[in-house]
Amino acid sequence: MKKLTLINDEATNQLGSKIAMEILKSSSQEIEIHLEGDLGAGKTFISRSIIKNCGWKDLVKSPTYTLCEEYDFNNLMFLHIDLYRTNEAEDIDIFDLSRKINSKKVVLIEWPERLQHERSFDLKIIFSHLPEGREVSLISGDNGFKEWLKTYE
Ligand code: ADP
Ligand code: MG
Repeated sequence: MKKLTLINDEATNQLGSKIAMEILKSSSQEIEIHLEGDLGAGKTFISRSIIKNCGWKDLVKSPTYTLCEEYDFNNLMFLHIDLYRTNEAEDIDIFDLSRKINSKKVVLIEWPERLQHERSFDLKIIFSHLPEGREVSLISGDNGFKEWLKTYE
């Protein structure tokens, strides 16, 4: 686990950009990132940064209302999910996250605390509000991001 203080939007954006680089570099065909933290903490903000820094030139909308937004480009497929408004036990199934695709699949989940069945992740980011800025805890999962986190500075 690593704790960082992100003093402003730009610092969060820099973290997003580093994660994007690791996604692009990774040989893994499936990457899952969980994003925890209160409303307004930065989960959608960093998702937007990750997706854009991977090369997406268009808008990245918050999936708060649609629950899932998909971005298919440059051999990458992002599934950006927000579980805040869900309460049905098996809701996550409707997104068909395990579908086979030819691109590298990146699943970003806001509010993974709402999952009825735990899912393994490659990276978990926990945001908390500071009087100014945010504190984030980075936790690497069993697969990717272990080495990345060790060398993170
Ligand atoms: P969430 O998806 O967690 O509910 P959003 O990502 O939609 O929240 O909103 C996060 C807000 O916090 C945005 O207004 C963004 O500009 C701001 N923000 C992001 N990173 C920081 C930071 N390090 N310090 C202060 N504000 C930040
Ligand atoms: Mg959000």
